Amino acid sequence: MLLNRFKILSLSVQRNIFVHRNLIPLSQFHHSSNLSDRKMSKERSEDEWRVILSPEQFRIIRQKGTEPPGSGEYNKFKGKGIYNCAACDTPLYVSDTKFDSGCGWPAFFESIPGAVNSKEDNSLGMKRTEITCAACGGHLGHVFKGEGWKHTPADERHCVNSVSIKFSQENKE
Ligand SMILES: [Zn+2]
Repeated sequence: MLLNRFKILSLSVQRNIFVHRNLIPLSQFHHSSNLSDRKMSKERSEDEWRVILSPEQFRIIRQKGTEPPGSGEYNKFKGKGIYNCAACDTPLYVSDTKFDSGCGWPAFFESIPGAVNSKEDNSLGMKRTEITCAACGGHLGHVFKGEGWKHTPADERHCVNSVSIKFSQENKE
């Protein structure tokens, strides 16, 4: 009698362990993979970004700073390839859309579709449109419309900080 009760108890304990072993790790796996996906986007805290980015990148990308005109690595750069977000590596611009605006920052007439968000920015007493990486929310620069750039399809100039982007060459192999 006592033995039987012990058997039943131990069986039910074993079953619980079995259930837990099979369900919990799997659900945790799904949970954590969703978490890490989101971590690539807008979920990172400013403290995390401060560790990931250099102080200059943090100032510009997270605190919406601006690099001095004419100082940027890609201002007059003409390589063929893709410009990715310097913070999260998402492709933002292709080199074929880069043009020499003479403004002192890299200029693109359009982004890769859906890669860049824009939002009204009334800081510094100016009425501008800020552009950010759609994936991580990092500050890129500003977009100016209707300046009269005849060779650009939508007459837009995406004025982007070199610090906010990272060039990747085409045909790496
Ligand atoms: Zn990004």
